[in-house]
Amino acid sequence: MASKDMLALGSQASVIRDLFSYGQQQAAVVGKENVFDFSIGNPTVPAPACVKESIKNLVDTRESVAVHGYTAAAGDTAVRQGLAKYMNDTYDAKVGADNFYMTCGAAASLTITLKALVESPADEIIVVAPFFPEYTVFIANAGAKEVVLPPDTEHFQISLKAMEQAITANTRAVIVNSPNNPSGTVYSAETYGKLAVLLTRKSAEFGHTIYLIADEPYREIIYDDLPILYVPHFYGNTIVCYSYSKSLSLPGERIGYILVPDSAADAKDVYTAVCGAARAMGFVCAPHIFQDVVLQCLGQTSDVGVYDYNRKLLYNGLKDMGYDCVYPSGAFYLFVKSPEPDANAFSEKAKKLNLLIVPADSFGCPGYVRISYCVDPDMIRRSLPAFQKLMDSYKK
Ligand code: PLP
Repeated sequence: MASKDMLALGSQASVIRDLFSYGQQQAAVVGKENVFDFSIGNPTVPAPACVKESIKNLVDTRESVAVHGYTAAAGDTAVRQGLAKYMNDTYDAKVGADNFYMTCGAAASLTITLKALVESPADEIIVVAPFFPEYTVFIANAGAKEVVLPPDTEHFQISLKAMEQAITANTRAVIVNSPNNPSGTVYSAETYGKLAVLLTRKSAEFGHTIYLIADEPYREIIYDDLPILYVPHFYGNTIVCYSYSKSLSLPGERIGYILVPDSAADAKDVYTAVCGAARAMGFVCAPHIFQDVVLQCLGQTSDVGVYDYNRKLLYNGLKDMGYDCVYPSGAFYLFVKSPEPDANAFSEKAKKLNLLIVPADSFGCPGYVRISYCVDPDMIRRSLPAFQKLMDSYKK
């Protein structure tokens, strides 16, 4: 007999995956070039050249065990030292190798961090809508209660007023994600500053630390010369969950890290609990070869210029047609208000035109859709008449 909870979870298909599969089936019927699949966040911009070069170099020059063998559970020391130096040079982070735990991407970083922090089923984790839907699954897996902060649909920053109301004596942590999936918003220094003041005050009021979990797989995918902010500088009790899935276009390779800075309360214990949680869930020793690849590619990213080009093409195109779009400052998603209250109905109408766009109900933001533009710019150009037709159907 299987676990009922896991059976239920395994049986539920995600809306994104459903649309993605539909797109593949539909391509066989109407032709690949006539399906406009904006459903999934799978980068099509190739990984930078250093990825291929370092893989070749590692395979050609190292002994098998030094490429494919186990590393330490937390990751190879030289890799973590290199990462620490990079973060110190770039962000003045003041970290060392022992602040890092290498993981299989952001999903692992988050599940491990949550497991390391949650103590009792009464513990609450606050998520800020709109948010990555898997947070709900990860929080349940850690045995905590999810508390959803309603979206600030005016600016898509964090409503401090709503946050103040959401924090209780049971709040263990708050998860933030910037640049944001799905809104494309980047949280400002002002937002982080105010959030830090609030979390510090509430931690004092309730007599325990409220941690901030900064989920940052899109850290470097940022536009308009906005600065990349190092969140622990604003709030010391921050645990950073990073991934190379998007910045280096390596989602299938499963590589990222958790950073527990010394500024976090009980940092050594939290780090040790991270090691314990990773061990309990079998997330030890992230893929060896990709630990070394990311070391050799520190500071590099895929060509963000392509995403920027797509962003402008889609944002300007859709705005001109009359769509109400959130201005995207980062990541590779355009968040659009549905012209009718039910975004599912809107997405269904779009689907009839072979436009695959994701209703944002599962992101905690009904009435919006997410358009993932990490696609071939040509597809965006070809899709514009369909977007126009869709808008026209609302004007009739
Ligand atoms: N967090 C956010 C906000 C994401 O968008 C994603 C993936 O799309 C993840 C976490 C998971 O990333 P990874 O593929 O590195 O596990």
